[in-house]
Amino acid sequence: MGLVVQKYGGSSVADAEGIKRVAKRIVEAKKTGHQVVVVVSAMGDTTDELIELAEQVSPMPAGREFDMLLTAGERISMALLAMAIKNLGHQAQSFTGSQAGVITDSVHNKARIIDVTPGRIRTSIDEGNIAIVAGFQGVSQEGKNITTLGRGGSDTTAVALAAALEAEVCEIYTDVDGVFTADPRVVKKAKKIDWISFEDMLELAASGSKVLLHRCVEYARRYNIPIHVRSSFSGLQGTWVSNEPRSQSEGQQVEHAIISGVAHDVSEAKVTVVGVPDKPGEAAAIFRTIADAEINIDMVVQNVSAASTGLTDISFTLPKAEGRKAIDALERSKPAIGFESLRYDDQIAKISLVGAGMKTNPGVTAGFFEALSDAGVNIELISTSEIRISVVTRADDVNEAVRAVHTAFGLDSDSDEAVVYGGTGR
Ligand code: ADP
Ligand code: ASP
Ligand code: MG
Repeated sequence: MGLVVQKYGGSSVADAEGIKRVAKRIVEAKKTGHQVVVVVSAMGDTTDELIELAEQVSPMPAGREFDMLLTAGERISMALLAMAIKNLGHQAQSFTGSQAGVITDSVHNKARIIDVTPGRIRTSIDEGNIAIVAGFQGVSQEGKNITTLGRGGSDTTAVALAAALEAEVCEIYTDVDGVFTADPRVVKKAKKIDWISFEDMLELAASGSKVLLHRCVEYARRYNIPIHVRSSFSGLQGTWVSNEPRSQSEGQQVEHAIISGVAHDVSEAKVTVVGVPDKPGEAAAIFRTIADAEINIDMVVQNVSAASTGLTDISFTLPKAEGRKAIDALERSKPAIGFESLRYDDQIAKISLVGAGMKTNPGVTAGFFEALSDAGVNIELISTSEIRISVVTRADDVNEAVRAVHTAFGLDSDSDEAVVYGGTGR
């Protein structure tokens, strides 16, 4: 029997009962003869509550102390989980990210893992313990400061540990039965996917399907770690995410599917730089300013310049959490860049259709736009990749738009409704 890494998200350990339920499941895995390493998130909405608390003492909390605060959430759940396991008569030891050897760069609040040295974890499991690791955190190689990996980062901790420990599988336990063709909180008729390729899962995750974090899928693909996404509340098989289907039937199912799913994201905002001189170097100056502020952007659209004025508008989307920083940076560079004004809009949503079959099936883009237009949804920005089409719409339209597209592409299930076992959807 090999080693498994199991990750339990916040909704799975939302209260004492949840912790005890998860402890039983972990002990079951240990009893089958596996070595078990568990990565755990903060209980319920603890991270959001800690952020709100920080905002009450400082308007824009950031940096070292903010990370120090947020990592406390995972420390609470790791210790409680280890206690609950011991109470069931099994040995367990909890470790912070730093103790587990999760080494990161120095970018506070969204650090990247650069190395994992899990010596202490290896020793602990070799001594017969179940090792419990606090997700979402590490320690910076240079300053030896505590860092966090960005929201949802426990998924990445789990895959990174699975890779470093050469685990058989990384199991991601959450509050739904796997990866569905759309968020089950929005589309009751979403279907569970039995198997999905890393490629399609990467696009879904990047487009806002927060059931798996984008970086975690990137990591799993790089080290070829199969992920099994499943519910910690039911005993059902979930969704396998890997390079190849594991069986012929999974392969056939995928061959028939042109579209893997519909994703939506309401965490972005749109910045429009108004009145930009239409000459070489202007876009470069704008996006250099944003990059120097360490902000990742998503979509970019430049309007046709009005010939009479020689001015154009450039819009881009970015995480809402970075909005203030982007506006401040651009305002500071305004004299050098020479634009007229800035507009900021955080009432937008992004809706994306994802599927490798898109490459070879004409009409997908047309079908997507028709479904949106039939639902009366106006499109503000468009971007595409080989296997994805995304649009930006008004935030108010998002649920209706997702359902309309899901139905139009024949993704609605005609049997069971998707179950959401817990969580607040925050
Ligand atoms: P955890 O606390 O376990 O990390 P998350 O809230 O981060 O859980 O992720 C699980 C949630 O992801 C589900 O409750 C669901 O609302 C949402 N979700 C979004 N898109 C999908 C999808 N395509 N399939 C399954 N869940 C999805
Ligand atoms: N607790 C962190 C968050 O809420 C990390 C995680 O749950 O993955 O973002
Ligand atoms: Mg998550």
